[in-house]
Amino acid sequence: MDKIDHIGIAVRDLEQALPFYRDRLGLQVKGFEELADQKVKVAFLPVGESKIELLQSTDPAGPVAKFIEHKGEGIQHLAFRVTNLAEKLKQLKASGVALIDDKPRPGAGGARIAFIHPRSTGGILIELCER
Ligand code: ZN
Repeated sequence: MDKIDHIGIAVRDLEQALPFYRDRLGLQVKGFEELADQKVKVAFLPVGESKIELLQSTDPAGPVAKFIEHKGEGIQHLAFRVTNLAEKLKQLKASGVALIDDKPRPGAGGARIAFIHPRSTGGILIELCER
């Protein structure tokens, strides 16, 4: 694990959430991206070497919409930067960790990502992210 790459925060509406982070906390918005396969629109706000990623669902059946339905808005996942993601996934799987993705898939900002299932992490959705 190299560092915390980003923290994913589920919001109902990016345009309503952004003013707090941008105008009150003074973070800069470095861009937006829509990820069709994850059914989200993402805003990137760098903080030092890490980032806040604000996530708005684009589909009521998407994972972020379901998260908000069950838990409300808030921190949805924690992402660690790793090197050699495919190898790391093999090691985790071999040691019995429940993976949502056992192979890397494309994530925001050109990263390769995979999620670890919260049942193996004490309830936190953890993303591994290789850039
Ligand atoms: Zn993420």
